[in-house]
Amino acid sequence: MPHTPSKRILLKLSGEVLMGEQQFGIDPEYVARLAEEVKAAKDTGLEICLVIGGGNIFRGISGAAKGLDRTTGDYMGMLATVMNALAMQNALEKLGVQTRVQSAIPMATVCEPYIRRRAERHLEKGRVVIFAAGTGNPFFTTDTGAALRAAEMGCDALLKGTSVDGVYDSDPKKVPGAKRFETISYGKVLSDNLKVMDAAAVALCRENAIPIVVFSIREKGNLARILAGEGVQTTVQE
Ligand code: UDP
Repeated sequence: MPHTPSKRILLKLSGEVLMGEQQFGIDPEYVARLAEEVKAAKDTGLEICLVIGGGNIFRGISGAAKGLDRTTGDYMGMLATVMNALAMQNALEKLGVQTRVQSAIPMATVCEPYIRRRAERHLEKGRVVIFAAGTGNPFFTTDTGAALRAAEMGCDALLKGTSVDGVYDSDPKKVPGAKRFETISYGKVLSDNLKVMDAAAVALCRENAIPIVVFSIREKGNLARILAGEGVQTTVQE
């Protein structure tokens, strides 16, 4: 039976938010705080899919800039996302939230492989499903992995929790007076090459009419505010 209730979201967290105030890696205290926010969202009755990036540990493109094969670097990046997924799983389970990690790269002794129908069952049972290893393919990003899983799982929205509080017309760190959009079309994001998510991810969301909500997860309580329709954000839609 197709999924119909309008209460399933995919939350994509950039790897860098797991660093907290560190310059690299995982800050377990900060991950615990993020887990509390996810739990609070779940307690409102939402079904939650999670995708976590790997940029706090490794990005294939940075490795390639220093001479590593791009594909090797990308697989390393995907493995980094599995570490982040396990850290988040641990933090959520400490709060009593049932979770499953499903990896696009099968690693049977660590977590489940990605099986859509099984993920569906987990969600129905109230578990948070953390999708690890992106799409499982090099030359992609976890943003695209998030868009793909959001489409496959029939999510009603893709929430991108990152370090900036929305989509701007120019880089707010460099351009004083840069303007944040409240809403913006997929087409404008693509034609203006705005740095929201990579083009493949935006195109996939557009094809499947999945709104993308970009917000900062750095401020405590922001996820709840966004879900209540209150926080500072940008929605990318048709
Ligand atoms: N990656 C990949 N294929 C995917 C997803 C990720 O090759 O489907 C690799 C890629 O090298 C990427 C790294 O994993 O740089 C970490 O993911 P990403 O950069 O998307 O993490 P984020 O920026 O969200 O922390």
